[in-house]
Amino acid sequence: MEFLFDMPVRLFAQQNAVEKHQEEFGKYGKRCLIVTGHNSAKACGALDNVTKALDNQGIAWKVFDQVGQNPLVSVCYQGGREAIAFGADFIVGIGGGSPLDAAKAVAAFGADPELTPEGLYQPHRLSALPLLLVGTTAGTGSEVTRFSVLTDDKGHKRSWGNASSYARASFGDPRYTLSLNRKFTLSTGLDAVAHALESYFSVEGDQVSQSFAMMALKLLLPALKEVWLAEGEPTLECRERLYLGSLYGGMAINRTGTAFCHTMGYWLSEEREIPHGFACAVFLPDFIQYTVPLAPEKAMKLFSALGMYAQELCDTIIMLTDAEYEPATDEELEGLLDRWENSPNMKRTPGSFDRQQQRRIAEKVLQKKG
Ligand code: NAP
Ligand code: FE
Repeated sequence: MEFLFDMPVRLFAQQNAVEKHQEEFGKYGKRCLIVTGHNSAKACGALDNVTKALDNQGIAWKVFDQVGQNPLVSVCYQGGREAIAFGADFIVGIGGGSPLDAAKAVAAFGADPELTPEGLYQPHRLSALPLLLVGTTAGTGSEVTRFSVLTDDKGHKRSWGNASSYARASFGDPRYTLSLNRKFTLSTGLDAVAHALESYFSVEGDQVSQSFAMMALKLLLPALKEVWLAEGEPTLECRERLYLGSLYGGMAINRTGTAFCHTMGYWLSEEREIPHGFACAVFLPDFIQYTVPLAPEKAMKLFSALGMYAQELCDTIIMLTDAEYEPATDEELEGLLDRWENSPNMKRTPGSFDRQQQRRIAEKVLQKKG
C-alpha cells in the first residue's frame, strides 16, 4: 500500500446542494463578489440559488460576469480589482471550468493588490480570499482541484495552482447541467474522460488516483453513449452519472495532473476555437495506443473493469468527438514543439515521451498526416 490523498475541499454533491447548505455562504464574511460567465449561471438557475442563499445569510453581493471561455488572466486581474474595490471578504465562482478557474485567480488577486498576472504562475503559496465554487458543467472537476487554466497575454493557455487555490467548499448539483446543450455535454464529458485516462496511466498515479480514474470511466463512457444515442434531452439520472464521473476525474488529476493530450490540445482551443474537451479527446486514441503497450497489466485491469478493449474504447471516443479544424502549418508545429520542451505533462506521460514522439503524434493529429 502506498498512496497520497489530499483534497481539502468540503464537497456537497447532490441535487439542491446550494439550497440545502446555505449556511456555508455565511461563514466567510459579509461581502461577496460572484465571479461567473456571461449567461449560463442565470439560465440554469445557479445564480438565483446562490444570491438567495447570500441574501438569507445577510451577505452583500456583487456580480462580475466578464469571464469568457479560455479565460484571460487580464480579466481575472480586473476581477481581483473589483473584489478589492467592493471590499469583498470572499469569492463565489459559478459556472463551468472557465468561471471556476477564473474565480480561483480572482480570489488570489483580490487578496493581494501587489500580485501581478505573472506572479500567479510562481510556484509558491499565494494568499487568497476564501472561495466557494458552484459547478454548472460535468467535465473539468475544477470544483475539487487546485488547478486553474488561464490564457496569458501571449494567448497561451497555462495551468497554475497551489495549496491556496482550493475552494473552501464546492457545490455539485447535476440539475444545473440540464441546460447544457448536446455539443458542450459531449465535450465536457470527454474532458472528464481525458482526465481519467491521462491520470490512470500517469507515472505519478497511485492506487487511489487509479481507483478514482476507473470509477470515473465506468460512469462516464456509458452515460456519454446514452447522450449520443438519445433522441431528446438526457435524463437527470444520466446527468448525475456524468457529474459524478467528472468529480472522480477531478480527484484523480488532483493527484497526478494531466498528460500530453491536455498540453497538445490547448493549441486547438487557442488557435482553432475547439472546445477544451474535444481538443483533448482528439489525442486520446493515440494516447491509448501509445500507453497500453507500456503498461499492459494496468491496461488489462482497466479494460476488464470497463468491459471493452483498446480498439472499442478508441472507437467510442472517436464517435463522441466532434472537432473540425484547419491543420497546423509546419511553422506552427515547430513553435509548439519548442513550447512543449519543459512541459511537466510530457514528463508525466509514461515511457520516454521525447520530442520525436511528440512530433509523431502532433503531425498525425494536428497536421492530419497519416
Ligand atoms: P466553459 O468554458 O466553462 O463553458 C463552455 C460553454 O458552456 C460556455 O458558453 C458556457 O456559458 C456554457 N455553459 C456552462 N454551463 C452551462 C449550463 N449549465 N447550461 C448552459 N450552458 C452552459 O466549459 P468547461 O468545459 O466546463 O471549462 C473549460 C475550461 O476549464 C477550459 O479553459 C479548460 O482549460 C479548463 N479546465 C480546467 C481544469 C481544472 O482542473 N481546473 C481541468 C480541465 C479543464 P457561459 O459563458 O454563459 O458561462
Ligand atoms: Fe481538462
